[in-house]
Amino acid sequence: QEDIFKKLVAHCKEYGYVFQSSEIYDGLSAVYDYGQYGVELKNNIKKYWWDSMVLLHENVVGLDSAIFMHPTIWKASGHVDAFNDPLIDNKDSKKRYRADVLIEDQLAKIEEKINKEITKAKKRFGDAFDEKQFRETNPRVLANQKKFDDLHERYTKALNDSDLNELKQIIVDQEIACPISGTRNWTDVRQFNLMFSTEMGSTSDGAMKIYLRPETAQGIFVNYLNVQKSGRMKIPFGIAQIGKAFRNEIVARQFIFRMREFEQMEMQFFVRPGTELDWFKNWKSTRMKWHQALGFGEENYRFHEHEKLAHYANAAVDIEYKFPFGFKEVEGIHSRTDFDLSQHEKYSGRKIRYFDPELNESYVPYVVETSIGVDRMFLQVISAAYCEEELEKDSRVVLKLPPVLAPVKLAVLPLVKKDGLPEKAREIIDNLKFDFNCQYDEKDSIGKRYRRQDAIGTPFCVTVDHQTSEDNSVTIRYRDSMKQERVNISELGRIIGEKVSM
Ligand code: ATP
Repeated sequence: QEDIFKKLVAHCKEYGYVFQSSEIYDGLSAVYDYGQYGVELKNNIKKYWWDSMVLLHENVVGLDSAIFMHPTIWKASGHVDAFNDPLIDNKDSKKRYRADVLIEDQLAKIEEKINKEITKAKKRFGDAFDEKQFRETNPRVLANQKKFDDLHERYTKALNDSDLNELKQIIVDQEIACPISGTRNWTDVRQFNLMFSTEMGSTSDGAMKIYLRPETAQGIFVNYLNVQKSGRMKIPFGIAQIGKAFRNEIVARQFIFRMREFEQMEMQFFVRPGTELDWFKNWKSTRMKWHQALGFGEENYRFHEHEKLAHYANAAVDIEYKFPFGFKEVEGIHSRTDFDLSQHEKYSGRKIRYFDPELNESYVPYVVETSIGVDRMFLQVISAAYCEEELEKDSRVVLKLPPVLAPVKLAVLPLVKKDGLPEKAREIIDNLKFDFNCQYDEKDSIGKRYRRQDAIGTPFCVTVDHQTSEDNSVTIRYRDSMKQERVNISELGRIIGEKVSM
C-alpha cells in the first residue's frame, strides 16, 4: 500500500497534477503547486461541493471573505491562546515531532498488528471464521488489545488534562520513534502556535501584527449579521465559503494530506438553540451521502466520533476515508454551539443576535459546521481513482475519476494526420468545447494515445477515421471498460452530457 502511494505521488508529478512548490530551488516543505490537470480537478471538486451546498440548498448562500482579518478576531476565536500543537524534540536525532501524532501512530501500529492476525486467520478458516470469538480467545490478539486499551486510556486522559509531562512520559515509556534503540533523550513537550503572522502597515505609523487565517470559518462568523440582514435570511440557514487557510504544521508528510498552505470548503449552519444536535445528525448524514455518491465504495468510508471535544463543541465527528496509509480524516462536522458568535459579541461590543418571529425573542444562534479540505479531498479522489491494470498483452495505469470531476472530459483523436481527419476532429471540438473540457491529440499510435488519456483519467476518447468522412460516425471509447461504440457525431453531446453531470 505504501508502495502504491509512492507511485501515485510520482504519477501526479509525471502527468501534471501536483508539483512540489519551488522545486528548482529544492522545494519548500509541505507546500505544493497544482499543474495543468491538477488545477482542473481541483476546480471541479470545488464546483461539485459548491453546487451541492449552495445551489441545491435554498437556505445556504455563499461568501468570499478576505484572508486578512482584524487581529482581535483570532483572540476572540481562541486561536491566539489555544491553537497549538504539542511538540517534542529528540535530542539524539535532532528531529522534531508532534507528541500527539507520535502516540496516535503507535496506537495505529498496534491496531495494524491485530488486523494482520485477523486477516491471516480469515484466510486460513474461510467461511467458518468467527471474528468475535477469535478476538476473545487468540492470545496474541488479546495481548495487543490490552496494550492498545491501556495506551489509549492513558493518552486520552493526558489530552483531557492537557498534561504535557504525561505526554512526554508516554513517549519515553513506549520508546516511540527512537532512532537508536534505548534513546530516551527527549526535550520537554511544549505548545507551539500554528498561526503564521505578518505585519500590516509601515512600522513608522505603527505596524499591526496580523495573522494569515488558519480556517475560513471566522470570516463567516464575522459576516453573520451582514449576510443575515442583506439576504433577509431566516433561521435555519447556512453560509458557505471556499478559500485558502494557513497552518504552520510541524509534521508535514503524506504529500498534500497535511500542507502549510491549503484550501478549505466550509459551511456554517445557523440554527435555533436546542435544535443543534438534530441538525448535526442531519448534516452528518448529508455529507456522508455526498462522499459516497462519487462511487468509490461505501466500505471505504467511516465516521469517527471524537472522544475529546474542543471546548466550544457539544458534538463532533470526522468522515474518514481509507487512504493507502490507513483511515484518515477528510471532513469534520462540528456542533460549535453559540461559542464563536458569543465571543465576537464580547470582543466587538456589537449585538450578534437573531430575532425569531415564531418565538418572538432574540438569541445568539447555534452553529453546525461542515469543514473539508480541498487538497485532502483531491488526495482522496486521486488515490481512490488510481488503478494499475494487467491487460491481455500489456498493462495500463488508469485514473478512474468520476466523470463529473475528470479534468478532461473527452479527447478527440484523428486516426491519421491526413485525409481531412484532423480538420474533422477540430470541428467536433469546436462544437463541444463550450460544454466540456476537450483535448485534441494526433501524436503517436492510437493505442498510445488511449493510454495517455487513461493516465490522466479522461472518461471518453472519440476517434475520427475514414468512415467518419462518409457517414459522420465516430467511435467512442469508454475509459473504464475500454469498450468502443460507433455513434453519430450529433449524439456525442448528449452521451457525454449524461455521464458528466452531477
Ligand atoms: P487534522 O486533525 O488532520 O490536523 P483538523 O482536525 O485540525 O485536522 P480541522 O481544523 O477540522 O482539521 O479542518 C477541517 C478540514 O480541513 C480537515 O478535515 C482537512 O480536510 C482540512 N485540513 C486541515 N488541516 C489541513 C492541512 N494542514 N492540510 C490540508 N488540509 C487540511
